[in-house]
Amino acid sequence: MKKREFVRAWIRILLGFTPSLSIEITRECPLSCPGCYAYGDNHLGGQLLRQVRDHKGQDLVDGVLRLVKIHRPIHVSLVGGEPLVRFRELSILLPLLAKQGIHTQIVTSAVSPIPKEWRDIPRLSVVVSIDGLQPEHDAHRKPATYDRILKHIEGQPITVHCTITRQMTEREGYLREFVRLWSSKSQVVRIWMSLFSPQIGEKSDMILPPMIRQAVIDELSVLQGEFVKLELPKALLDAYRKPPKSPDQCTFARITRSITADLQTRILPCQFGGTPDCSQCGCAASAGLDAVARHVLPLGIRVGAIFEASSRVGRFVDLSRRACAHRSPYTAPVVTGDARNPPPRRARHILGSFM
Ligand code: SF4
Ligand code: SF4
Repeated sequence: MKKREFVRAWIRILLGFTPSLSIEITRECPLSCPGCYAYGDNHLGGQLLRQVRDHKGQDLVDGVLRLVKIHRPIHVSLVGGEPLVRFRELSILLPLLAKQGIHTQIVTSAVSPIPKEWRDIPRLSVVVSIDGLQPEHDAHRKPATYDRILKHIEGQPITVHCTITRQMTEREGYLREFVRLWSSKSQVVRIWMSLFSPQIGEKSDMILPPMIRQAVIDELSVLQGEFVKLELPKALLDAYRKPPKSPDQCTFARITRSITADLQTRILPCQFGGTPDCSQCGCAASAGLDAVARHVLPLGIRVGAIFEASSRVGRFVDLSRRACAHRSPYTAPVVTGDARNPPPRRARHILGSFM
């Protein structure tokens, strides 16, 4: 996280906003990957993603812009379902988000072509999920096979994201082969590696047992020294070694608002939904933010301590804002779900130059 982004995120927290928004842009996906948390029974606390009323066309564009207006994020992650199912809407939406200075990330399986015009949109990153080497990936992610991915990402700078499962640890050198292969592709700007993150009590052969998890982290720390595109700084790997104990202690969960495809329902406690097992969390985004939070500033203050104190202030500001909204006949009505009103005009004026 760059210094300027840090300051912007901090101010958003102080104002009671969430600097990061994650939206399940659609309930649809042509794939059915094993271990997909989005389609898990407990992802939305009982309701299934495929049953949610989702949006299309201008309704979807307007709905996302409305959420952005309410929550004022500096970073928006568009996930699914499969976001490319809504490529037409995204082609309208993405330039509008970029114009607002928002960094947008699209997480896709590249099951269909990535529109060529996206490559010129500033502050956009396209993250392609790849589940290991071709035989395993093609078996898991059919019809988003290696052949299709390579065709669909042509000319488009991408981030490769791989979630490491136990199966990938059974053959020595597997991870190295994966990183070498994708490092050699000119379109690949960076590679992220997450670790499979189960729900509490989940039994799955994808889970990394503790010893194997440690060995994988050790191996990743060697690989990141050899492959420049592999973005796994030491602090992030340390966060994998010692994940947050609970969602309350997870910086990512605290500063990210995850919303499902109806554009209203919140996914709690984090993007995984359900009851995630934080002790086995291997989410690269969570570990990355945790690494930032653990960073100690020159005065000996932990960045996380600043975020925590600020989020207490932010909650107070938010409550005041809600109270004002009830009293003032001039304030827009509170929208349903967790949507909120904008900050008081004066606060916006004072802090506007930072935002
Ligand atoms: S592509 Fe993503 S959303 Fe679709 S089934 Fe696979 S993991 Fe789930
Ligand atoms: S992102 Fe990971 S550590 Fe954070 S709440 Fe979710 S499972 Fe727990």
